[in-house]
Amino acid sequence: MLIPNKTLAIIIFCFLTTATIFSQNKYTIVIHGGAGTISKDMPDSVKEDYYSALKEALSIGKSILHLGGSSLDAVERVINYFEDNPKFNAGRGAVYTAEGKHELDASIMFGKDLSCGAVAGVTGIKNPISLARLVMEKSPHVFFFGEGAEQYGKKMGVTFVENSYFDTEKRFEQLKKSQEKIKGTVGCVAIDNEGNITAGTSTGGMTNKMHGRVGDSPIIGAGNYANNKTCGVSATGTGELFIRHNVAFNVSALMEYKGFTLQQAADEMIFNRLPEGAGGIIAVDKEGNYSMVFSSSGMFRGVADSEGVFEVKIWKEE
Ligand code: ASP
Repeated sequence: MLIPNKTLAIIIFCFLTTATIFSQNKYTIVIHGGAGTISKDMPDSVKEDYYSALKEALSIGKSILHLGGSSLDAVERVINYFEDNPKFNAGRGAVYTAEGKHELDASIMFGKDLSCGAVAGVTGIKNPISLARLVMEKSPHVFFFGEGAEQYGKKMGVTFVENSYFDTEKRFEQLKKSQEKIKGTVGCVAIDNEGNITAGTSTGGMTNKMHGRVGDSPIIGAGNYANNKTCGVSATGTGELFIRHNVAFNVSALMEYKGFTLQQAADEMIFNRLPEGAGGIIAVDKEGNYSMVFSSSGMFRGVADSEGVFEVKIWKEE
């Protein structure tokens, strides 16, 4: 018996609608755009610009996860957005070194198999997080620095820019008053429908840093970590402190070895181990719980999940 085309179309439509309703993807995503001294006195228009950039970043990641995409894709795309936005200290808006140049760091980690990739001190890579992902997925190594990283980027065909592409008025002003504490590193952690956790972090580092200085962001276990058994973490703040205290790994370790909840582990590292004002972290655990803690006056951040949560914040009380 031949089924008429129209009937067939109706059957397919009903099947797809039912399948979508019953197979709603479960996911959580958190983002940060840096922690530091963030004055509440900033003009409303500037505040609004930050809120809308955070919302935009979150929507990019949420829509990938909502359609059943991987946490890896979500994290990379969110960070690409931040890297292309001059408001944040990653990619385009990277801070200046003491010599008036830009040296960028990034890393990404996939919690399913602990694979990871990192680059440090790159000067001409438009989107360092994407190069870090290539290091993870296509090279036998984990970490490339400086010229070797750029050479690998050339081989893999990533987009190059002149170092002056990263020049912005705002960051130059910050270099001139190098006591500037707003940092603006970016990060994203997500768990997808398959339970895979990815964490990514990208930065221009600290304003006025010495040539060759590498912070915590590209160091697996310090500024970035993911393990499906526990959680994923991305950090922001004074990198030297996060390296000394192995912050991202220790959040995971406290959960695995000591049975801490994600929130307990995050609080322990940020409030009991690091000095006050060091910075903050965003994290997601294997159940999709999230934590965003910081000991600075503010942290640009946001969270979205499959239950309908969608919020962005800058200060503690809002
Ligand atoms: N953690 C970054 C670094 O030390 C800076 C930041 O998060 O703002 O390079």
